[in-house]
Amino acid sequence: MEVIETIDALRKARARFGQLGLVPTMGYLHEGHLSLVRLARADCTATAASIFVNPTQFSPHEDLSRYPRDLERDLSLLRAEGVDLVFVPSVAEMYPEDFATYVEVGGVTEMLEGAARPVHFRGVATIVCKLFTIIQPDRAYFGQKDAQQTIVVRKMARDLNLPVEVVVGPTVREPDGLAMSSRNAYLTSEQREAAPVLYQALTTTQRRYANGERDGEALRATLRDVLASEPLAEPEYVSAADPLTLRELDIIGSNGVLLSLAVRIGLTRLIDNILIET
Ligand code: AMP
Repeated sequence: MEVIETIDALRKARARFGQLGLVPTMGYLHEGHLSLVRLARADCTATAASIFVNPTQFSPHEDLSRYPRDLERDLSLLRAEGVDLVFVPSVAEMYPEDFATYVEVGGVTEMLEGAARPVHFRGVATIVCKLFTIIQPDRAYFGQKDAQQTIVVRKMARDLNLPVEVVVGPTVREPDGLAMSSRNAYLTSEQREAAPVLYQALTTTQRRYANGERDGEALRATLRDVLASEPLAEPEYVSAADPLTLRELDIIGSNGVLLSLAVRIGLTRLIDNILIET
């Protein structure tokens, strides 16, 4: 496995591989990340991962400086999965002092995570565009866990004609339903016990849909009601939205529905979702 820190060296190494799958990450890897690596390995002749805690997708008051990191452990996990190439650039390599160009995706960035985290998707689109340009993968793998991010990245790739196929892998969960996330490391044991309420809210609402409920507001009310049963959970938003446009639905129709939520537990902000397809 080649571990590469500079753009020049990455471009030279890339030229030695044919079809390449890329898994972009911010590190502190868990089974969710590794599931995407396995998808890439199964699909592509060579696999690359990137580890970069991208400062432009964090607002000033967010957790950039305390975001968990463990590069040595990440590299040994990737090595064990048979990854060929790992890109671990510094912040100065990706954002030199005179950096001034950003990618702004319209429409689907306005709501949900975009409304809650104003610069977030501008940072995500910019770094993913840079990684695609530098690494030139044939396919790139993203997790359903960050549902809006998958929609934003697909839209960017299409609008900018980037020759990369965006592949979405399913959300990997702990046995109690909590979606795996590097941020779960912030939770105290009491908070960790409360955290499965996100998945409970989603699955309870999914059952209401399965039992015939098609009213968007009723589904959002179910999400809110289940979250209200957990005193440590402070909901930021709940949503029952069109899976493509992310607009809140009055009535669920033939496109199905993306149920999603963002919840604070103490200082930690957790997100999760379930996509119901028809
Ligand atoms: P991150 O390191 O949090 O930026 O995540 C890197 C990639 O892994 C993103 O495409 C995430 O959506 C994906 N990912 C994170 N958590 C999970 C999970 N629990 N299941 C599947 N994919 C995940």
